[in-house]
Amino acid sequence: MKIAIFPGDGIGPEVTREAVRVLQAFDLPGMVLFEGDVGGAAYHRHGHPLPAETLEMARAADAVLFGAVGDPACDGLERHLRPEQAILGLRAELGLFANLRPATTFPGLEAMSALRPEIARAIDLLIVRELNGDVYFGDKGTRTLDDGRRQGWDMMAYAEDEVRRITHVAFRAARGRDRRLVSVDKANVLETSQLWRDVVNEVAADYPEVALEHMYVDNAAMQLVRDPGRFDVVVTGNLFGDILSDQASMCVGSIGLLASASLGERRTAHGTFGLYEPIHGSAPDIAGKGRANPMATILSAAMMLRHSFGREAEAVRIEAAVAKALAEGVRGADLGGDAGTEAVGDAVLERL
Ligand code: ATP
Ligand code: MG
Repeated sequence: MKIAIFPGDGIGPEVTREAVRVLQAFDLPGMVLFEGDVGGAAYHRHGHPLPAETLEMARAADAVLFGAVGDPACDGLERHLRPEQAILGLRAELGLFANLRPATTFPGLEAMSALRPEIARAIDLLIVRELNGDVYFGDKGTRTLDDGRRQGWDMMAYAEDEVRRITHVAFRAARGRDRRLVSVDKANVLETSQLWRDVVNEVAADYPEVALEHMYVDNAAMQLVRDPGRFDVVVTGNLFGDILSDQASMCVGSIGLLASASLGERRTAHGTFGLYEPIHGSAPDIAGKGRANPMATILSAAMMLRHSFGREAEAVRIEAAVAKALAEGVRGADLGGDAGTEAVGDAVLERL
């Protein structure tokens, strides 16, 4: 079990320290941790946000725990030297095409949601977003038409193998949860979506135990705030996933609680290779103050145990410990409380 730890910038090192303490608490056989530089921290030390040594370390690992990147001191740098390039580079180099974002309302935190508490309470879903295709990566440009008007375009395209591999990730995730999958598209107007739907239906034959439903993205956006309990796992393309995952995040409240996983096709001796990180950034405004909530990173470590190491029982124990701490009133600064980073880490460890 080789785990690369990339703390990064700002609150990244503070929150990853607590997640590492949680991982170490299990004393799992053969677990080895090694640490690498990314982001602004790497730029200052090596002149590049994603040094070759760091990439090598990621390739040699079974999973990566990533803190956050972003450093105001790097603001004036050329694009390829900016800290944010580290995460984009890792995703591309490691072939991480599936982004998993769970959204769960923890008991006692209903009031933090943008939704009415009785609706917020029903949220326990996982969004599986394709990360390497769609309009972000298609042919694009700006031109001047014959009549002098400027026109911009971005081509939306998905090849069937790209849809197939993300669909398998989603079905596998659904099999480990409530066995319900909603595939989100816009098949009434988009050719891309029609192909998406066909491929999803094809793949569904491999997972008879999972109930599949197709939904148009506009309807999905509406149902997410009207009746979120109808979703367990959601699979969708890059653009729709970008929007829906942020929408789902805010339905459950604080940024300090939201974890994520990015998976590829690479299998290791233990499971699927993946990179795990909180969805929040480096939070320069509170960096170095010991006030950041480490729960999102701790929950990301739980996802790592689940998806990269097949340790479902340990993952569930971490999630239960976080939920218990929250239910018993432990509140980080992001939740209007006064528990510092280490105190929150202690609170979770005590309840493991
Ligand atoms: P970046 O450019 O790295 O994304 P950012 O400031 O744009 O940084 P975030 O880092 O996500 O975005 O922070 C947004 C706000 O949420 C900030 O006010 C930050 O202090 C707060 N915040 C983010 N993460 C946490 C956390 N784990 N605990 C407490 N507050 C947080
Ligand atoms: Mg940001």
